[in-house]
Amino acid sequence: MAQAYQPLTDEGAIQYVRQLPGLFEQTAELVNREIGDGNLNLVFHIVDQQSDKSVIIKQALPYARVVGESWPLTLDRARIESETLKKEAERAPGLVPKVFHYDPVMALTVMEDLSDHIILRTGLIQRQRYPRLAEDIATFLAHTLFFTSDYYLDPASKKELVRQFINPELCNITEGLVFTDPYYDADTNSFNPHIRPQVEAIWSDAVLKREVATLKESFMTKAQALLHGDLHTGSIMVTDSSTKVIDPEFAFVGPIGFDIGAFLANLFLSFASHEGQPGSITERREYQVWLLETAQQTWHRFEQQFRTLWQEHVRDEMWKTPGYVDQVLQEILVDSIGFAGCKMMRRVIGLAPVADLETIEDERVRAEAERLALHIGRECVLQRRSITDGDALVHLVQSIA
Ligand code: ADP
Ligand code: MG
Ligand code: MG
Ligand code: MG
Repeated sequence: MAQAYQPLTDEGAIQYVRQLPGLFEQTAELVNREIGDGNLNLVFHIVDQQSDKSVIIKQALPYARVVGESWPLTLDRARIESETLKKEAERAPGLVPKVFHYDPVMALTVMEDLSDHIILRTGLIQRQRYPRLAEDIATFLAHTLFFTSDYYLDPASKKELVRQFINPELCNITEGLVFTDPYYDADTNSFNPHIRPQVEAIWSDAVLKREVATLKESFMTKAQALLHGDLHTGSIMVTDSSTKVIDPEFAFVGPIGFDIGAFLANLFLSFASHEGQPGSITERREYQVWLLETAQQTWHRFEQQFRTLWQEHVRDEMWKTPGYVDQVLQEILVDSIGFAGCKMMRRVIGLAPVADLETIEDERVRAEAERLALHIGRECVLQRRSITDGDALVHLVQSIA
């Protein structure tokens, strides 16, 4: 076991897993490839060529990979990630990769290899349909969020959970990149020059910015449940029959609507991107319908499952007051739509663009899709309080497209 942190080399990663008990035979012929495509960490894919057994090692670097050593970043995020994966596995079994080993000194997690899955964002760009997606994500959201909230936990355990998942550096990234930088001429922004007029309109829209300011404050202060914290379609891996949520290093105790909103935002970003992706218009329109149905079903099934959990488990007498669960769910929906709007605008204006839009080669065609994404994002933030169910949300998006 290492005495001090060091980033693994390709060979070092092989030696590392070889000495872990219970994973590989002594005679294993291990080969390794670094497959990380994310912004922050190293990811190694290690396979035993004799048995085909394989694992993933994810190791945090002491800086943000996307920027380099000039942007230091806490290694504690590896602890947050492995502890969150374990909690999620308890409440949403089968929907996250299994954790085999966590090493606090090396800031790494050895986990189940999901290489037979693909990143959902890639599947959505290819216009693949995933029949289990809405149900599985609704189950993941309802269970991980309900069981880590005050609706279920006793007050002392809940406060202990808040303490365990204090994640100031990664929260600070979200606070800046999602809720602040896109709304002024920040150095971190990068957007298509063809949409400058629409971006400048957002920068001078005080009504919109006050709403985003409110959502930012909720993100920072509304300690409702243990969030995944980064639930975009690059953090979900899929096959036709399986859904797995990866990469919870941004986890902290925050507003329930933030995770739901992240997922909805990425469905709507995909929706907007298929305005400009190549292929037949009929095929693209039909796919957009599937995306909206998936959004509608996700909310619908989240709500149903959350109500069931509430009926069985809600802890506090005051919260059993008739109608209170409806009030809670309405507030979660409004928050979710607001956060979805922020997450959409951020992906168009700010750092970390999404491949859904970036893969549209023609800048002018891409600009059309980006304007649609900005428009949907803006209306989600402004009109969120008038939305009362998934159908109304889908109608809002359809009315803009
Ligand atoms: P980051 O935090 O740097 O974004 P991720 O956890 O998202 O890292 O992983 C980066 C990439 O590595 C993913 O997009 C995926 O392609 C691959 N990956 C991560 N975890 C697994 C896994 N358990 N099985 C297979 N591939 C994985
Ligand atoms: Mg990632
Ligand atoms: Mg990734
Ligand atoms: Mg990550």
